[in-house]
Amino acid sequence: MTFAGFDLPDDLRLLRDTVADFVREEIVPVEAGVPGDARGLPVDGLRTLQAKARDAGFWCLEAPEEYGGGGLGVFEGVVLAEQMAKHRYSFPRPGAGVFGSEPPNVLYKGSPRQIEKYVRPTIENAWTAFSAISEPTGGSDPARAIRSVATRDGDVYRINGHKMWTSGADTARYGIVYARTDRDAGRRGMSAFIVDSGTPGMTITPVPVLRDHWTTEVVFDDVEVPAENLVGEEGQGFGLAQEWLVRGRLRYAAQAVGVAEESVRIALEWAKTRETFGALLATRQAVQFPLADARMQIAAARHLTWEAAWEADQGRDARTKASIAKVYATEAGYQVVDAMMQILGGMGMTKEMPLEHWFRGLRVARVVEGPSEIQRFLVARDMLGAAALGRAS
Ligand SMILES: Cc1cc2nc3c(=O)[nH]c(=O)nc-3n(C[C@H](O)[C@H](O)[C@H](O)COP(=O)(O)OP(=O)(O)OC[C@H]3O[C@@H](n4cnc5c(N)ncnc54)[C@H](O)[C@@H]3O)c2cc1C
Repeated sequence: MTFAGFDLPDDLRLLRDTVADFVREEIVPVEAGVPGDARGLPVDGLRTLQAKARDAGFWCLEAPEEYGGGGLGVFEGVVLAEQMAKHRYSFPRPGAGVFGSEPPNVLYKGSPRQIEKYVRPTIENAWTAFSAISEPTGGSDPARAIRSVATRDGDVYRINGHKMWTSGADTARYGIVYARTDRDAGRRGMSAFIVDSGTPGMTITPVPVLRDHWTTEVVFDDVEVPAENLVGEEGQGFGLAQEWLVRGRLRYAAQAVGVAEESVRIALEWAKTRETFGALLATRQAVQFPLADARMQIAAARHLTWEAAWEADQGRDARTKASIAKVYATEAGYQVVDAMMQILGGMGMTKEMPLEHWFRGLRVARVVEGPSEIQRFLVARDMLGAAALGRAS
């Protein structure tokens, strides 16, 4: 079967264009009134935009239909994420929550009670949730690094440990915490638990980072969690998390393509009107070449992203292709935004322009959801097999 990404079906093209119009006509004007050093959209502005997005039928488009979402596939998801990212506060989430809030995807494998208590209300009420995997001992290799433990005690588990870089834990309603239920079983000893924010014993401290949306450090001191909050079975936590890696990585890739393309649009307008030394910037090859390079990089990044997403929708193992797309698109996106900032000169550095937000967001994107080096390692391991791990094949 040939790759279906070159010619989008009419209904998807229409949806993509309508979402793009919504971002340009609804989100961008609201952001224009927000002070440049704000950390995101003001709550009342966000609520108004969410109501409009819901009315327009753009609500939680990737969540399963049976839980109140749009049920879109991975390919449709990346096509839309690219457009949803074309506004200032689009990191870490394209749309900044305007298009709804999805529960951590592992919960789609949760019990009927967990679906009723957490999944449906999250989609309905735009609750936010955190995912706590990384620890101070390391995030690249969580299967080895996780030290947090969950010990069964009658009808509850007691969680003790220390999570690092847990985004959104300071504002979330609840989160998924990964902890060991068997210290000797490696990745098979890891389980996932739903933990309500504010549970006694949890201490959350914001950690400022270079992007607008800070992260947090969370300490668990004998935090009591009902046994029914275990997601799946003991030992399944890591496997459940792995199942959703493809979507997460491809969303970052699509977001990078979207902001890179928007930064080029802004720089093109500038180059066609800005004069130096008696001629338009558009006439200088030193300006033309980065524009041409950007176009090539964006086309390549989009192709890799769409191809991986399409493979995933066919039910094939798309993990390596998702790694390729994530590392290429986030690195290319970072280079493109940087080059467009250079064309804009001083204006490119201002908070009036969205480029400096995207530049910082893309810098972080090269580390989160698996650093570039880990993605490259995964690609090389796919090529080399056991030899990549120093073992005979
Ligand atoms: C803003 C932000 C938000 C985040 N949000 C979350 C969140 O919500 N939930 C969560 O669980 N985590 C989150 N993270 C954590 C993120 O996933 C980790 O930072 C990332 O996985 C890297 O882990 P680490 O920082 O511990 O770096 P380490 O694992 O210590 O690695 C450090 C660096 O070493 C290099 N490296 C590591 N291993 C190899 C290798 N085998 N070969 C070559 N180079 C290597 C990489 O360059 C890597 O960046 C967030 C991080 C940031 C910065």
